Amino acid sequence: MLGLMQEWPLLCHKLIDNAERQHGLREIVSRSIEGPIVRTTYADIHRRALKVAQRLERDGYRLGDRIATLAWNTARHIEAWYGIMGIGAIYHTLNPRLFPEQIVWIMNHAEDKAIFVDLTFVPLLEKIAGAVKSLKQVIVLTDRAHMPRTTLPNVVAYEDWLNEADGDFAWKVFDEGTAAGMCYTSGTTGDPKGVVYSHRSNVLHAMIAAMPDAMGLSSRDTILPVVPMFHANAWGLGQSAPMVGAKLVMPGCKMDGASIYELLDTEKVTFSAAVPTVWMMLLQYLEETGNKLPYLNRVVIGGSSCPRAIMTKFQQNYDVQVIHAWGMTEMSPLGTLCTLKPEYAALQGEARLDIQQKQGYPPFGVEMKVTDDDNKAQPWDGKTFGRLKVRGPAVARAYYGGAGAEQFDEDGWFDTGDVAHIDAGGYMQITDRAKDVIKSGGEWISTIDLENLAVGHPDVAEAAAIGVQHSKWGERPLLVIVAKPGKEPTKADILDFMDGKVAKWWMPDDVAFVGEIPHTATGKIQKITLRKQFKDYRLPTD
Ligand code: ADP
Repeated sequence: MLGLMQEWPLLCHKLIDNAERQHGLREIVSRSIEGPIVRTTYADIHRRALKVAQRLERDGYRLGDRIATLAWNTARHIEAWYGIMGIGAIYHTLNPRLFPEQIVWIMNHAEDKAIFVDLTFVPLLEKIAGAVKSLKQVIVLTDRAHMPRTTLPNVVAYEDWLNEADGDFAWKVFDEGTAAGMCYTSGTTGDPKGVVYSHRSNVLHAMIAAMPDAMGLSSRDTILPVVPMFHANAWGLGQSAPMVGAKLVMPGCKMDGASIYELLDTEKVTFSAAVPTVWMMLLQYLEETGNKLPYLNRVVIGGSSCPRAIMTKFQQNYDVQVIHAWGMTEMSPLGTLCTLKPEYAALQGEARLDIQQKQGYPPFGVEMKVTDDDNKAQPWDGKTFGRLKVRGPAVARAYYGGAGAEQFDEDGWFDTGDVAHIDAGGYMQITDRAKDVIKSGGEWISTIDLENLAVGHPDVAEAAAIGVQHSKWGERPLLVIVAKPGKEPTKADILDFMDGKVAKWWMPDDVAFVGEIPHTATGKIQKITLRKQFKDYRLPTD
């Protein structure tokens, strides 16, 4: 017997409809690319997104068409997303930090037909647009007065283009499984791979993310998504915020400590999310100026492992709760968040940080397990590590065009490529990327643990651990360090500091000091490049 409940397809435009009806006057504040702070509301965004949809349809775009965006977090970018999705087309966020050739490759692979582009990226697009065969139209996210002189063909200012629509439009209706958005993983190995979100997965992910033990979002929050919309969906905040009716503060292109602080303070932001590097810049700015964070209540930190020093500073010096989170583009992106179950709530000091340092546990809607190389599930004992596999309604079941099929198990699990262990309380801790883990004499050494420990040294700005050839052990750890400006720590300083804090056989065999560590387009340490750089390195122990 089937249930007798209504069909109510989970479509993304219902999120913005709800925001308009229930929270119409709630503000969306943007640091515009032109410069000034611009204030709009959910009612404005709803009205303008309808115009985007109407205008796109009039220009000939249809269900399933891929429409790219190359833009920062602003209200206009949000309007574009909802307008695109509202006709059943697919927003395709492009990461401007990729190499231009990679962007061309990705656009051609996705066959993007049009693009919404911020002023910042017009020069970049001018260089590559000719190489994208499918591209028919460029919409620059600005008004006529700020329109630059450009060599781009078929180009129009967003506000002019929008003004030609009256907004008298009804969202298209289609199946909730219809594709809504697209995002390519940066592809540190091989070509980038396209992840295709559906309306259903986006709506469910927004609900999952908003739950109290996940991000705990409500209409009383003021949310500052520092994490860009082009990096894994801004961790779902572009959907979760309108779902709950929270005020949104969009940082535009300025992510330095002073600019982020200004928004946190003047807009009384209660909740924010970003990668560790952004928080490092903010904390440094706060230390220099002596400013405080009276309104900020909690920050989500993810994308790479959150150093303990960041957690301590936020919680002890500024009374801001840190929620360490893990996820990936393929998971929409949230996988786990480290909020405290009641059995840990009373923990204080280092014992509390020991839990918070973990990446956390998955909310309802994400299942996880760790397996050995034979796909045998490992015990949840907090130490046996293996490949981390996940499944759920907002986890990819394939890549666009069928690439990377080996990552999808026949039994419906997705192999994340991360290495982790899970403890008896259900908390997961990432120890490595499978391709980065150091294999010493058949045993695995976690590079993340070594790095987190090393950056705790007061003179260390950044640290990366890599495996280097060793005739006896196969590989042994080399620690690569960038010192803080004006500091000159020695190898002995670093090793003495680490001594006793990790197993003896995990201790790096050597420490190398460099001026800079290479990063990927999503801000992660580029281990491949680093390993190449140290390919012929001779360890003193060998
Ligand atoms: P890309 O792979 O394109 O850089 P993603 O954001 O999809 O972008 O990266 C996901 C990966 O980032 C995860 O598989 C994991 O290796 C790493 N990661 C994300 N959050 C954390 C975290 N809190 N701790 C450690 N690693 C993390």
